[in-house]
Amino acid sequence: MENLFDVAVIGSGPSGATAAYELAKKGLKTILIEKETLPRYKTCGGGFVYRGLRNMPFSVDEAIDIKFKEVDIIFGSKNLSFKAKREKPIISMVMRDQFDHLIVKKSQAEGVELFENAKVENLVFQENYTQIETSRGKVNTKFIIAADGALSPTAKLAGWEETRRMSPALEYEITVSDETFKKLAGSARFDIDAAPQGYGWCFPKANHLSVGLGCTMKSSKKVNLKKAYQEYLKMLGIEEVLSEEAHGFIIPTSPRTDGFVKKNVFLTGDAAGFADPITAEGISNAIASGIMAAQAIIESQLNLEKAKAIYLEKLNKKLLPELETGIKLAKFFYGQKKLRNILLKKHGQRAAEYMTNIFMGDSTYPQNFYAEVKRKFKIPF
Ligand SMILES: Cc1cc2nc3c(=O)[nH]c(=O)nc-3n(C[C@H](O)[C@H](O)[C@H](O)COP(=O)(O)OP(=O)(O)OC[C@H]3O[C@@H](n4cnc5c(N)ncnc54)[C@H](O)[C@@H]3O)c2cc1C
Repeated sequence: MENLFDVAVIGSGPSGATAAYELAKKGLKTILIEKETLPRYKTCGGGFVYRGLRNMPFSVDEAIDIKFKEVDIIFGSKNLSFKAKREKPIISMVMRDQFDHLIVKKSQAEGVELFENAKVENLVFQENYTQIETSRGKVNTKFIIAADGALSPTAKLAGWEETRRMSPALEYEITVSDETFKKLAGSARFDIDAAPQGYGWCFPKANHLSVGLGCTMKSSKKVNLKKAYQEYLKMLGIEEVLSEEAHGFIIPTSPRTDGFVKKNVFLTGDAAGFADPITAEGISNAIASGIMAAQAIIESQLNLEKAKAIYLEKLNKKLLPELETGIKLAKFFYGQKKLRNILLKKHGQRAAEYMTNIFMGDSTYPQNFYAEVKRKFKIPF
């Protein structure tokens, strides 16, 4: 068959673009299908933690606004406020249109064919290949990596049910007076509990602030994030907002329970539900899983059964156990505030250092922590 691709990657976010880069670098005939015209805006705080940065196959410095080597983690009261510092940047601030586009351009330089402004509308599965029907024509491919984000139409078309926990988040790109900007520009800050069962963030970008609130509850439960935002502005000492762009969306903060590969479709990033259950930070795991899916296909030498097995093996090695522990910890962290704050009074700095180690990619969530706390404090869940 003419023009048969080895792999079609659907979605040019960090997951899809990095996967496409890896595939093309190893010589696989790869197409990257994107419904928008690039660069496109993506609703996101744009805080890129070091565990993601260290995993990048090339430098993304040109898309980084500011690198922070320290972070502030604040628990609603001055007695529970912690600072963590590292030699390397804990969190780097990016605007996602520039950041994602940079990865796409790197992938194109390796030979990826970009098919933008092409919305995937249907999949027709044949015996040895799949025909992808898009708003701009058809694409034939042996493998599909579905990196099409939280809504993942591809997962629906391939037969997945909805089993991820969807966490609502609201993000505002705001400008403030020079004086207020100067006050807030020196730190990337997390305010735990600023949102119901969640947190607020204030991330300085080159000339503005990304202020947002994320909630770990299911989005079916009613939460008033707009009200929480107004209160959060006060908490940050922002009296006047000069301009404001509001964006709301969902973040899948638990992995799917009905698998990550069906037929020849491999799910990665938000499509799979790989954002961190405690912080809802999703860029780093989107990249990690994109790389894993690409490597699985490469290592299998285009053998579907082998590729499936290799991808699941890679996911099970660290990512899935980490998410599983993270889900339990999130339940404790946001659901048992009183007990959490008692523990933090004594061990808060240690907890902040631990969290920072996770951001850095130096640690994973402690597997036995939850069981220990449960046993010690006789928590019945
Ligand atoms: C308010 C908010 C704040 C956040 N803040 C942070 C943060 O500070 N740090 C962090 O790490 N994470 C953050 N996240 C999470 C992060 O944005 C996601 O986890 C991350 O973007 C997932 O990357 P991805 O590549 O899987 O998907 P995406 O980045 O969502 O990319 C999916 C791509 O698929 C394309 N697509 C969708 N449907 C189709 C279709 N039918 N055909 C073709 N293309 C299609 C989309 O246009 C898009 O380009 C935030 C999320 C939200 C909502």
